[in-house]
Amino acid sequence: MVTVRGNALIGPDLKFVEDILIQIDEKGIIQKVSNEQKTAEYVLPPSNVIIPGFINAHTHVADACLKDFTYGLTLEEAVGPKGVKHSTLNSKSEEEKAQSIRNSLDMHVKNGFTAFVDFREEGIDGIKLLKEELNEYPIRAVILGRQYGDNNLADISEMSDGFGFSDVFSIDEDIMRQTKDLKENNQEKIAAIHASESMEVISESLTRFGKPDIEKICEYPFFDFVVHATYSNENDLILLKKNNTNVICCPISNLYHGLKFPPIALILKNELLLGLGTDNTFCNNPDPFRLMAFTLYSARSNYQTILPKEILKAVTVNPGEIIRRQIGQISEGFYGDLLGIDLNSPNTKYSKDVYSAITMRAEPSDIVFQMFKGKIVKWKDQK
Ligand SMILES: [Zn+2]
Repeated sequence: MVTVRGNALIGPDLKFVEDILIQIDEKGIIQKVSNEQKTAEYVLPPSNVIIPGFINAHTHVADACLKDFTYGLTLEEAVGPKGVKHSTLNSKSEEEKAQSIRNSLDMHVKNGFTAFVDFREEGIDGIKLLKEELNEYPIRAVILGRQYGDNNLADISEMSDGFGFSDVFSIDEDIMRQTKDLKENNQEKIAAIHASESMEVISESLTRFGKPDIEKICEYPFFDFVVHATYSNENDLILLKKNNTNVICCPISNLYHGLKFPPIALILKNELLLGLGTDNTFCNNPDPFRLMAFTLYSARSNYQTILPKEILKAVTVNPGEIIRRQIGQISEGFYGDLLGIDLNSPNTKYSKDVYSAITMRAEPSDIVFQMFKGKIVKWKDQK
């Protein structure tokens, strides 16, 4: 049993409690969260706060080798079928792609992520490549694959956590029937899709199907979440809510590509679960602190006011609930993925409250303690 003691944000509402004891078993699962006064192996001082490890709810980790090459291009020029991303990555060797993935994983771990949800390209080979690299890192990947070449969906499902479709135009009745069957046979499988990322996508969907892409996607009630919803309106969000399909937004990626800031306040008002992701590594570093601060600041200039605590939930509790895994909160039965943040560093000192300090002030250098499945990744200032 591993024991950790200190002030912490616990449960699904990230409630601040003082001096609690977290007991984690050999499998890395939290057995007990209590105020028992026992000694602990790791005791964090009162100036620290223990929080759940961050979850990056949407990534494409293989394209780190294209950092900043697409700045100034349109979405289509950057990531379209004939765009820079796919044409360049196709010409890279397996080792170059592996190095690119390793760079993304290094940043994820260093910046405090203990999990990420990746839309993996290149079918079975792409999934295998990421899995091989993952073994070396204290982080969990939830891998969502897609059809590629002659790989079929059943093989993809076998190798991965589910499906991450590129857009509404990449699916058809046959693919959707297979997805539904595979999900029914294995409740853990996840289905997700990019949606309403740009006005062009919505216009093309109107031309092809006579309805916006989110309306088309909602004809299949088994999607766990859509990614982006940048140009969604309230009608789209009501439909998603009815289908129990939640939303992952990637605001830094949207602005990098010259697109709008997503309607996050409206998503929260419609009581959808909101997750946040950094999206392609080529357009920004996977850094939860930068993602949270950027989101809160950009929201303000888009006439949206969002509580810092809601944004902290969007990189911890909510993605865990959206993907139905026991991660993202400090609760019994959940994995012991923990971070200790220094609330008395030059960055965080004097901030209004713990949620503001973490979302708008802290940086990766303020992480003093990091644990993945009950095992130490980082521990400094031992007291
Ligand atoms: Zn994406």
